[in-house]
Amino acid sequence: LCDSVVKSDAYNLNLNPPEYMNFDGQALRCRSLEDGLVELTFDLQGESINKFNRATTEELREVVSLLQQQSNIRGLLITSAKEVFIVGADITEFMANFKVSQEKIAAGVREAQQIFLDLENLEFPSVCAINGYALGGGFELCLACTYRVVSTRAKVGQPEVKLGILPGFGGTTRLPRLIGVDNALEWMALGNEQSADAALKSGAVDSVSEPDTLRESALTLLRRAVAGELDWQAKREDLRGPLKLNENEALMAFESARGLIAQKAGKNYPAPLTIVGVVQASAPLPLEQALEIEAEGFAELAKTPQAAALVGIFLGDQLLKKKAKQARKQARPFEQAAVLGAGIMGGGIAYQSAYKGIPIVMKDIAQSQLDLGLNEASKILTKRIERGRLTPDKMAATLTRILPTLSYDALRDADIVIEAVVEREDVKRLVYGELQTMVREDAVIASNTSTISINRLAESIQNPERFCGMHFFNPVHRMPLVEVIRGKDSSVETIATTVAYASAMGKSPVVVNDCPGFLVNRILFPYFAGFNGLLKDGVDFQRIDKVMEKFGWPMGPAFLLDVVGIDTSRHAEHVMALGFPDRMAPSSATITDLFYDNNRYGQKNDTGFYLHTTDARGRRKKVRDPEADALLQTWSQPVDREVSDDEIVDRMMLPMLMESSRCLEDGIVESPAEVDMSLVYGVGFPPFRGGIFRWVDQVGAATLVGKGEKYASLLSLNQPTAQLRELANRNDKFYPL
Ligand code: NAD
Repeated sequence: LCDSVVKSDAYNLNLNPPEYMNFDGQALRCRSLEDGLVELTFDLQGESINKFNRATTEELREVVSLLQQQSNIRGLLITSAKEVFIVGADITEFMANFKVSQEKIAAGVREAQQIFLDLENLEFPSVCAINGYALGGGFELCLACTYRVVSTRAKVGQPEVKLGILPGFGGTTRLPRLIGVDNALEWMALGNEQSADAALKSGAVDSVSEPDTLRESALTLLRRAVAGELDWQAKREDLRGPLKLNENEALMAFESARGLIAQKAGKNYPAPLTIVGVVQASAPLPLEQALEIEAEGFAELAKTPQAAALVGIFLGDQLLKKKAKQARKQARPFEQAAVLGAGIMGGGIAYQSAYKGIPIVMKDIAQSQLDLGLNEASKILTKRIERGRLTPDKMAATLTRILPTLSYDALRDADIVIEAVVEREDVKRLVYGELQTMVREDAVIASNTSTISINRLAESIQNPERFCGMHFFNPVHRMPLVEVIRGKDSSVETIATTVAYASAMGKSPVVVNDCPGFLVNRILFPYFAGFNGLLKDGVDFQRIDKVMEKFGWPMGPAFLLDVVGIDTSRHAEHVMALGFPDRMAPSSATITDLFYDNNRYGQKNDTGFYLHTTDARGRRKKVRDPEADALLQTWSQPVDREVSDDEIVDRMMLPMLMESSRCLEDGIVESPAEVDMSLVYGVGFPPFRGGIFRWVDQVGAATLVGKGEKYASLLSLNQPTAQLRELANRNDKFYPL
């Protein structure tokens, strides 16, 4: 793996500088400094970051072992040659690492822990200079050092919980011993990044330094320790024993943390409470025994379906980022954007672009709408200031990047124009006619339409290769997904530029081909069709909401329809029925037809499935409405049998699954991962299930084919696809490893 040279004799010969410890590997290098000090630098070759991949861990083992063998070393400085310190473990290795048995995972963790333990127990003090991100295993390395100096620019933390696991390189043992149980549980169970100041305040680091003096500060601290000015042995010893809590304190600390964390995490995420359990069980033990419990806890979580799903989402997100990076290479440069329409979506798009630093012209035909759009942006920014996430300066700078206008003149310099006017084909065509005479010939034009065919809209664009769809989700500043819709004439450059712009706006773009509903609505409306069928059979909507929320959805289908708007949903439903008459045209009036005809539009007019009101504190709340119940009774035809909760889940999820599979079969989207990420980022599919196809992998394709067949007579959308049948026959998965 590496080429190591140890010249311990050199020190005795008094060479200058004494070369008692040189090491050059793929990820680490060591150099001797003066006075018996050694600098260990993380610098993973061929990467822009440092991470604990297998090679790095092996080299660290080797270096620590070499350091153990040296009798002349007096202190160790640990630095990074990258912008980050160490971002954590190499998550791309997780899937394979977690495939083995729980016992093997625990054994692997213990091996890694031993390296950190050996580092901690070196016969001389160590100081790390944390110049940038030190997360997960990266921060656990810092915890194994005697002292930590952090740059004002750095962020530290233990985000493992976000992947459904826990810190396994000593984090659950060293962190509470260093910063106390309450703080440590908060860091580890929430997984948030911590600023340098927060880390100092809690005692997780020993000092904070400006970036340019960081190394020198760390060296000074090391020299002081070496010179005996600091009692580093006592400091080390202090952290090796059990946690300093008496029984009562421990009970208080762990029970109150458990209550709070359980409430935050909910039932579907086991990692946060396992972290509490591990810290509690290991509290009365000395460090080395505590590490045992950590290894067991880690292995247990690594085998959960939640960890597989959350790691899968991380990898899916990496895939989207990689694709966006490739797109940037083919994209046209964009410095100036424009949005037509200052409504709900146009206002949100203008805000998001400006917030991310890309100036945007916002054009509407009504001054009142422009005012509304700007007010919306101000409101979001003000909220960020109130939460301490933004300074008034940045708010002012953001607002000046939005240029509201009633005239097309300001669009002359736009590199990309997003059309977000009302959802009417005739209006959009008219707008394109005007727009094309005013914008540069090479400007990209993208429509935010949710239901109109991109290929059809392209007919009113003179050079349709510059046109595509750019479908944002509401509210724009919160929803990460942007569907970029490729029309049959859209050029590679147009798609690349739109993807690059979405990514520069901080969004996660997924490229899909044009079809009714594009990707997300094409998958979501079959789910609503399943809902419609259950309601027709007399199943109570509030019960369905509860069952689907238990499944993990942020809100059930009835509430979701109220939020989207019954009128909007009904319109989309009709578009889908026309697009896929074989399976999406309902045989009779649907629930949205019924509510629409009775002026129940959902949240927008306070009446839908629920009655939407405000409570005494002015917060929105939903209550049951007898009028909705009465209407439903006139329409439904209750079946004469019990419908179980499992049947509800099946009849909701199967139509969504089969249509997702059809989208892959039809080549609407490139990969299962992009479908999964679209559902998680676009409609809040439960992250702990990892997306619809990861859900298939967990339940089993054969089981779902069987269920699809069972329910196909109730709704043809349930009919299993050829792809799913094939997968079941091969006993295969959407994600084989
Ligand atoms: P909206 O009614 O809130 O806003 C439309 C805006 O367009 C209004 O401000 C109107 O004054 C303006 N407008 C009308 N004609 C115009 C013209 N000729 N030139 C410039 N501006 C004009 O609508 P919205 O909800 O923001 O939807 C806009 C688009 O976004 C639609 O295509 C819709 O399908 C799509 N969309 C909406 C949502 C959503 O949840 N609202 C989600 C995704 C996509």
